[in-house]
Amino acid sequence: MTSPPLRRQSPLTSNSSPDPFLFEFSHEIGHFYLMHLLGIDIGGTKTAACVGTNDGEVLASQRISMSASDSIEDYCGRLEEACSLALSESGTNIESVQAIGISAPGPLDPRTGILISPPNNPGWHNVPIVTLVQKLFDKPVYLENDANAAALAEYWFGDYHGTQNMAYLTFSTGMGAGIIANGRLIQGANAMAGEIGHHTLDPNGPKCACGRFGCMEAYVGGRTVTERIRERVTTANISTSMLELAAGDPAKIDHRMFAQATRDGDAFAVAAWDEMIEHLAMGVGNLIMILNPELILLGTIAVHEGDLVMKPLMEKIRKYTWSWSLDACRIAPSTLGPRLANLAALAAALTGCVQEGSF
Ligand SMILES: [Zn+2]
Repeated sequence: MTSPPLRRQSPLTSNSSPDPFLFEFSHEIGHFYLMHLLGIDIGGTKTAACVGTNDGEVLASQRISMSASDSIEDYCGRLEEACSLALSESGTNIESVQAIGISAPGPLDPRTGILISPPNNPGWHNVPIVTLVQKLFDKPVYLENDANAAALAEYWFGDYHGTQNMAYLTFSTGMGAGIIANGRLIQGANAMAGEIGHHTLDPNGPKCACGRFGCMEAYVGGRTVTERIRERVTTANISTSMLELAAGDPAKIDHRMFAQATRDGDAFAVAAWDEMIEHLAMGVGNLIMILNPELILLGTIAVHEGDLVMKPLMEKIRKYTWSWSLDACRIAPSTLGPRLANLAALAAALTGCVQEGSF
C-alpha cells in the first residue's frame, strides 16, 4: 500500500501545535487509503477479536470467554481461532492486515508489550502478549491499556475526533483515564499516567481497592459504590426500593438498580447518588484545573444513565473549577457507545502504524 499524501495527526508523534484542519482533511483522505487492522480487546471475562478499517468501520467481530484458570497457551490457541474466524467473516485475510492492536486492562507496559498482572487472571504474570501475538500472525502488534485505547478511539473515530486536548474517563466498575494533551497521548515515566481514579479526594475517606483511602474510585467506581450500598442495606437494615428491584436480596443489588431507584426518588438511593456525583464533580474538576482540556468524555455509567449523571454533574462542577477553564471544556458521555471496545483495539493498531510511519 502506498502512503497517503497527507497523514493524520498522530496522538503520539504530533508536535505542540498540530493543525486541526490537517486532521480533518486527512480524515477524509483516509477513506480512499483504506487499511485493514486487527483488534484484540481483552476484557474481564471475554476477549473480542475484530477486523476493521482505519476509518473506524468494524467489519467482523468474534468473542471468546476467559476464565481465571485459563493457561496462556490455551488462551492463545483460542485467540488465534477467533482472529481467523473474524478475518474470514470480514472477507479479508491476514496478509492484508497492516497491524494488530491490543487493548487490555492494566497494569501493563506498552513499551515492552507485557501484561504485568492481569486483574482477572491471577495465574498470569508478566505475560509477553505482544510477542505471543506476533508469533501467531507475524504482523506488527501494539499494546495499550484500555483507558488509553478508549481515548485514542475517541480521538480517531469519535464525534469529536481530532480534539487536541481531551480525556476519556472509563467511569465503569473502576475509574481510569486516557489523556491526550497537545495532540499527544500522555503515558508518563513508566506508563502509569491517567490513574485519575486513585488520586486522593479525602485522606479520611473510604478504603479503596488499591489499599489507600479516599481515592476518587472509592467514591465513584461502580464496583465499590455498589458493594458499599449492599453492605449498608444489609447491616443498617435500610428500607429502599433497591431491595424490591433485587427481589429482596441485598447481594443482588446492582448499579442499574441503584440508578433506577434514584430516578424513582428513593431517599436512600438519591442521597447515595448525590454523594457519588459530588465526588465525580470534584475529581473531574481537578482534572480540568490541571489539564485545561477542550473535551472530557465519560464512559459506561454516563452512557447508560445520561442526564441522571450529566445534569447534577454540570451543576456541581462549578464549585471545583474556574469558569474560564470550565467554559472552555465540553463534558459529555462517550460518543462511540457499544462500538467503543472494538474501536479501542483498532485505535491502538492505527496509532502504532502512525507512530511507525507506516500510514
Ligand atoms: Zn485507590
